[in-house]
Amino acid sequence: MSATETRETGALLRGVRLLGARGADVLIRDGVIARVGTIRTAPGQVQDIDADGLVLLPGLVDLHAHLREPGREDAETVASGSAAAAMGGFTAVLAMANTTPVTDTAEAAEHVLALGQAAGLVDVQPVGAVTMGLAGEQLAELGLMARSRAQVRVFSDDGRCVGDARVMRRALEYVKPFDGVISQHAQDPALADGRACSHEGELSGRLGLPGWPGIAEEVVVVRDVMLARHTGSRVHVAHVSTAGTVEVLRWAKAQGIAVTAEVTPHHLALGTDLLAGYDPVFKVNPPLRPDADRQALRDALADGTIDAVATDHAPHARHDKEHAFVDAAFGMLGLETALSVVAEVMVRPGLLDWAGVARVMSQAPARIARLAGHGHDLEVGSPATLTLVDPDAVVTVDAALSQSRSRNNPWHGGTYHGAVVGTFLRGTCTSYRGQLRPKEIS
Ligand SMILES: [Zn+2]
Repeated sequence: MSATETRETGALLRGVRLLGARGADVLIRDGVIARVGTIRTAPGQVQDIDADGLVLLPGLVDLHAHLREPGREDAETVASGSAAAAMGGFTAVLAMANTTPVTDTAEAAEHVLALGQAAGLVDVQPVGAVTMGLAGEQLAELGLMARSRAQVRVFSDDGRCVGDARVMRRALEYVKPFDGVISQHAQDPALADGRACSHEGELSGRLGLPGWPGIAEEVVVVRDVMLARHTGSRVHVAHVSTAGTVEVLRWAKAQGIAVTAEVTPHHLALGTDLLAGYDPVFKVNPPLRPDADRQALRDALADGTIDAVATDHAPHARHDKEHAFVDAAFGMLGLETALSVVAEVMVRPGLLDWAGVARVMSQAPARIARLAGHGHDLEVGSPATLTLVDPDAVVTVDAALSQSRSRNNPWHGGTYHGAVVGTFLRGTCTSYRGQLRPKEIS
């Protein structure tokens, strides 16, 4: 890369570290990466951004977020969730189907797509339900959703498990011709019913909370990887939470079975012991697990057995969350804090480098969801869909500053090393240093 004189307009990121490696100047123009190298420009021609030492990643992609619209706009809207996503460094978000009404038709999927386009901050890609009304019986309009303007490729009844093996087999067969994937919320209801809310063990017994044993996840994952092998279709395991599931995934991948998996920031970072105070902010499904599971999840993410980090961002209104622990809604916020949590628990201890973060938070999720235009290489001609990270920033999370409409934020008050500085979607800066859609960046 030689020094070049340019007379171009756009934004120029000076001294940025591509995937955390070499430093270079990156010129963004007309929505794409126009130049990479040492770039000299006369002042005023471009927005000159001193990015010395900052890390540049392809824009983050979240495979699993609950944006609550339509139906629960008091908890979140596609616009407020998009704002949270942009602040968190995300450029694409998969919006889960368990809204009211459920995203189980082409019209419903196109509605969510249109809401995302109107918000204009991230690409909001609807997830289609596997079954009508998430009832687990009759397949939803999988083909019509795939052929709709939304081009749905990821299908999930998340919040509920597709428990019937025959329904799961049919769904896998149905999505195979258009390269779809079934994302499974693995929870055998006979082993962990709707009230199960604490990892089953000594603590759940002492607290008197209904236990949610890891085996309830593992038996479903075993069944589903065998169904994926049988059908030759793709299955994705949502929010893996146990060491046993990791073992199954490792075996299945070694057999060449088309299985992928995600882990949440909270299952990587937070442990069962937090439930001791009965604070419902820590109530999540599947539940927080003991240290041994958490270590297995971190190792599996580092070695590629788990492909991706996904937030399971699950905003809830106060009147749904602020109850006695057993009665509170499941879920916690995650979009704005995911990168910092991953930096803290994976990068800081040396389990992942920044190229690894790009893999698990951008490239792998984009590939799993078949999202063209995301998770690309940082080279000339690629879309300027980018996340700028300060690896040395020390941030303390303040829930009051959240773009989300909800405040069920388990990260509030926590201090993390590494933070998102800015987000670009096809060349447009969607967030920069704590500001949405900034007029000026420098
Ligand atoms: Zn789920």
